Amino acid sequence: MGESGKLLGRFPGEDFPHKRACKVCGSEASYLLSIHNEHGEPHLLDLFLCPHCGLLFVGNPITPDQLAYAYGTLDWKKYYQEIATATGGKVACAVNDLYPLFSNPGDHDSVLDIGCGYGHFLEVFKDSRPFVRVAGHELQGEPASACEAKGFEVFTCNLEEISDKFDLIVLLDVAEHVPDPNRTFAACHSLLKMGGHIYIHTPRRCFWDSFFLLLAKIPGMGEFSAAWLRTRVSIFHLQLWTDKALEMSLKMAGFQLLYLKPELELSWPLERYARIYLGEKLHFPPLLVRIATRIADLLFVRLGTLRNKAVCLGQRKDSRESFV
Ligand SMILES: [Zn+2]
Repeated sequence: MGESGKLLGRFPGEDFPHKRACKVCGSEASYLLSIHNEHGEPHLLDLFLCPHCGLLFVGNPITPDQLAYAYGTLDWKKYYQEIATATGGKVACAVNDLYPLFSNPGDHDSVLDIGCGYGHFLEVFKDSRPFVRVAGHELQGEPASACEAKGFEVFTCNLEEISDKFDLIVLLDVAEHVPDPNRTFAACHSLLKMGGHIYIHTPRRCFWDSFFLLLAKIPGMGEFSAAWLRTRVSIFHLQLWTDKALEMSLKMAGFQLLYLKPELELSWPLERYARIYLGEKLHFPPLLVRIATRIADLLFVRLGTLRNKAVCLGQRKDSRESFV
């Protein structure tokens, strides 16, 4: 869901905060650039970069109403249909990764999938592990109702209001969406039994993100840099993780990181990214879009330089650590 629209800069000399506390480590993060938000208010999203943990994040305060409005502009059914192939691959990867935790009946007996959508993960997981209790958490709306209609238990309240405890919490493409990730991970910690696990897929800063972040600091290259970054950060993707930021946030919430794997994982086929971001938003002619797609395929996929997703597993510890 990496849409955030065309670039608009702040006016030179415009008065707005140029420093914000990093939402993960609390260090002083600096303003980088602004991108236009096509999904309601605020119309400009100010991106900040933390010099300590490397988190790139939307620094404007975003209210729950603004988020609700933005999500209300999306056609969920269409969105999930478009990413169905990628979702299938991601779910298969997750079930495979989690196999060792549930290899014997009685090892663990309950899973909560936060951001369960229509229940794609829950369906596949339940098929492979019928003896495990599976439940989902989702914002109130059509996906939650559809998942419930499939027979799954779906929580739509705040995470803090769920009184049950689970052996495993799964967050597939959720950690980039939440306004306060430290708080979300702390809530996950409270929802887990002692020794329980948290399993995450979320976008991470890859080589190309670092390249375009460097470019943003070169005079005259801001728009070029923003054209890339707006595919990574938006009103929906409120932060782009570094491995360090993700590990810090999990540790502060009381987790021990068991592994973090950088992976290539695209929500859409490359052609679709090129068509939308180069063709529709930047008005590149079709021939140039096709050439760009070929180059991207060679660079990102065949040469393996795009490892844009972090796949990680953490385990609940007794105590929490503080890095601030
Ligand atoms: Zn930070």
